[in-house]
Amino acid sequence: MPYAYDDQNVFAKILRGEIPCTPVHETEHTLAFPDISPKKKTHVLVIPKGPYRCYDHFMLAAGAEEQLDFFRAVAKVAEITGLAESAGGQGFRLICNSGAHSHQEVPHFHVHLLGGEPVGPLVL
Ligand code: ADP
Repeated sequence: MPYAYDDQNVFAKILRGEIPCTPVHETEHTLAFPDISPKKKTHVLVIPKGPYRCYDHFMLAAGAEEQLDFFRAVAKVAEITGLAESAGGQGFRLICNSGAHSHQEVPHFHVHLLGGEPVGPLVL
């Protein structure tokens, strides 16, 4: 079954400039910006600019250049925000909700980068 991408989702609107955001980092293929409802001291969302619905859509349909750009951008955001060990930070947690059972609310692939304070054990 092909992946259906709904271009009315909030991140698509951010990418089109219809909803404002303050970029933390931007590359040719990737955009990072603060979560509007931060769950930890630092909470940044990283999204590809292409129309991908979820993790498997992105990893199966995007080009290798976009994928590498995305995951390098995540590391760059960790450095910029001071979370990366290379920046003297204490690390971070990456979370990706992908699909209905994961509670993915915005149907545009994204990862949450959380840190700046202990994030605790992973509780499921
Ligand atoms: P969940 O809400 O269960 O974490 P997602 O993984 O889909 O589901 O996360 C969507 C995230 O997008 C939420 O953390 C939410 O706070 C954030 N968000 C929604 N609208 C905006 C916006 N306009 N700008 C920044 N972040 C947003």
